[in-house]
Amino acid sequence: MKRLVILGAGTAGTMVANKLRRRLPMDEWQLTVVDRDDIHLYQPGLLFIPFGTYRPDEVRKPRRRFLRDGIRLELGEIDRIDPVRQTVALDGGRVIGYDYLVVATGTSPRPDQTPGMLGPEWRKSIFDFYSYEGSVALAGALRDFRGGRLVVHIVDQPIKCPVAPLEFTFLAESYFRQRGMRDQVELVYATPLSGAFTKPIASAQLGGMLDERKITVEPDFLVERIDSERKVLVSYDERELGFDLLVTVPLNMGADFIARSGLGDELNYVPVDKQTFRSKEHPAIFAIGDANDIPTSKAGSVAHFSTEIFVDNFCDLVEGRPMTRAFDGHANCFVESGDGKALLIDFNYDTEPLPGEFPIAKLGPLSLLRENARNHWGKLAFRWIYWHLLLPGRRLPLPARMSMAGKHQPDKEN
Ligand SMILES: Cc1cc2nc3c(=O)[nH]c(=O)nc-3n(C[C@H](O)[C@H](O)[C@H](O)COP(=O)(O)OP(=O)(O)OC[C@H]3O[C@@H](n4cnc5c(N)ncnc54)[C@H](O)[C@@H]3O)c2cc1C
Repeated sequence: MKRLVILGAGTAGTMVANKLRRRLPMDEWQLTVVDRDDIHLYQPGLLFIPFGTYRPDEVRKPRRRFLRDGIRLELGEIDRIDPVRQTVALDGGRVIGYDYLVVATGTSPRPDQTPGMLGPEWRKSIFDFYSYEGSVALAGALRDFRGGRLVVHIVDQPIKCPVAPLEFTFLAESYFRQRGMRDQVELVYATPLSGAFTKPIASAQLGGMLDERKITVEPDFLVERIDSERKVLVSYDERELGFDLLVTVPLNMGADFIARSGLGDELNYVPVDKQTFRSKEHPAIFAIGDANDIPTSKAGSVAHFSTEIFVDNFCDLVEGRPMTRAFDGHANCFVESGDGKALLIDFNYDTEPLPGEFPIAKLGPLSLLRENARNHWGKLAFRWIYWHLLLPGRRLPLPARMSMAGKHQPDKEN
């Protein structure tokens, strides 16, 4: 029997396991997935819990329910990979051997990496919404907030879903307006970037939306520490930014066992070929989803598109054929903008988000880089699609590679 081991049963690991379960002959392959627990978290839902749009129980389900029969799920904390012996050690001494290994252990918020963040104000006036516990706690804090300065803050890039902090800011603005207390809340968006987003056209559009909503942007803000006694963020260039309520996105990092195994870069991401996800150092190892270092967004959509490419290539590889499919960095993200509206962005390694229609030119029905209610309903519908189509590994009618159909260069508009 050949042994394929997948580390992580999150978005990418679950999709890969289910797709390969269908494609590989099961009398020749043993397929094992490892995760620390049996709770699958629908992370895009963490954005909505603080505003009461989703209940906490709507974003968590047992992992086993989403893994097809014949896939073994091993529960345990991964301690180390030995790429020479081709083994994975779990806490407690269990060792699993592999012929091929897929690392899909994602990226996690690390509040411990910023001095002062985990001080006495953590989950009192300093919150995150990138963890389940943080998102649930923040719902209570927003409900009880009586006004003052709310700072939404990003420690550094890359973070998963890089638009989520912007979405949180737009939703907070709308939430306080609907509660009749917008004039009592000063909203500040503190970012390490020089604008609202990484790519120029989307950055200009999203920056304009922050201005319209009277949200102050604090650009190029690289936090050095948090003085929780004075409730102040202090940057490396010695700027101080006070807050009454801080919603921060802590530094995101790959899993520590990747560093312990000598497989990661400085943020514990696995360096891979950006078209095939194969480790640059170890040909039997692939890394997909947020765990790798490819230069596109860390997002569920990227995990989805890249899985399609990976699975086709992997089946070719193990049958002795060359891997011919190449990933183009395709990412596709809804951006909630408040008041029941959202934008949509679609881009890849070479093409930045452009305005237009999606997925069909002139027809849409979704709009690129323009707010409307249809995009918002698309985002909410995505939760059902995630549980029922994406995780089980069913094919969606969306090409894995980005299409230019429906996209326009802004200077050619009008
Ligand atoms: C607030 C928020 C909003 C988001 N919104 C969107 C969105 O609208 N659209 C979008 O496309 N994406 C969104 N994302 C991003 C998306 O959720 C992730 O990019 C996606 O889940 C990545 O999949 P993954 O499989 O790489 O990692 P994950 O789904 O995070 O899975 C990693 C798995 O590895 C396991 N693991 C890690 N380390 C260990 C260890 N040492 N031992 C055992 N198990 C381990 C974890 O338990 C986890 O199950 C959002 C994320 C957040 C936080």
